[in-house]
Amino acid sequence: RMLRLARAPLGGDASTGHVWSLRDITQQKLTDASRDQFIDTATHELRTPLANIKAYAETLAMGDMIDIEEQKEFCNTINAEATRLARFVDDLLSISSLEVGSLGIQRTTVDVRRLLDEAADKIRPTIKQRGMTFEVKLSEKLGEARLDKDKVSGMVVNLLGNAAKYTPEGGTVTLTAVREDEQLKIEVRDTGVGIAADEAEKVFEKFFRSANPAVQDQVGTGLGLPLAREIARLHRGELTLASKLGEGCTFTALLPLQ
Ligand code: ADP
Repeated sequence: RMLRLARAPLGGDASTGHVWSLRDITQQKLTDASRDQFIDTATHELRTPLANIKAYAETLAMGDMIDIEEQKEFCNTINAEATRLARFVDDLLSISSLEVGSLGIQRTTVDVRRLLDEAADKIRPTIKQRGMTFEVKLSEKLGEARLDKDKVSGMVVNLLGNAAKYTPEGGTVTLTAVREDEQLKIEVRDTGVGIAADEAEKVFEKFFRSANPAVQDQVGTGLGLPLAREIARLHRGELTLASKLGEGCTFTALLPLQ
């Protein structure tokens, strides 16, 4: 149960790098229940991709696979698993910056419509692959805004990714955005499994994942929504949820435009 992950610059002086430890988070910040959930998630999210990468790489290294297509498929799997691992580590690092209050934003002037179109493009293949309909309804008048492009895009991609994950085949995911009263309102709606009223606030807590079997069937870390809410708050905005169990979810981000 002593999980420790250290991060320091390669060959660097320890005093100039940062060493960050999962134990710091687990010991100081989490309640017992969420600590157990965290250990389970971290173990799973680190071990599963690593085991897959090792198994596929070992098979490739044996060199008795003649079929080039099969070899390509193995390489793609290794790549996908490495991406999953990297995403988890990125989320953990963002969460740890959030813990110490150093997760900041860098605003630049961005074309909001383009930002949202690009975010939608990132998730479109996943949504199509799952046999769902994807509706993107962006107002013509979104204009420009001073936002942290990468963080807002990350927030939207995360909400769309969840909508795709927790909506059964044949469902619909909708992204809408309007500019209203000097605020940018971004909405991600799905027709999926929904969230029960007693879990509506818990989903924004670190490492929380619903016990709903439809949720447990999907891979996840419980880090996406706490980070998404923090991103909205860093923009002096908010991220809220409206949902009914079995009837889908609507996540609404309201970002003030100075
Ligand atoms: P993850 O999806 O990796 O579990 P998140 O922090 O993104 O973590 O979400 C936390 C939990 O909130 C999910 O495990 C799930 O229980 C619930 N949730 C999030 N988005 C949705 C959604 N669109 N529909 C139903 N449940 C959701």
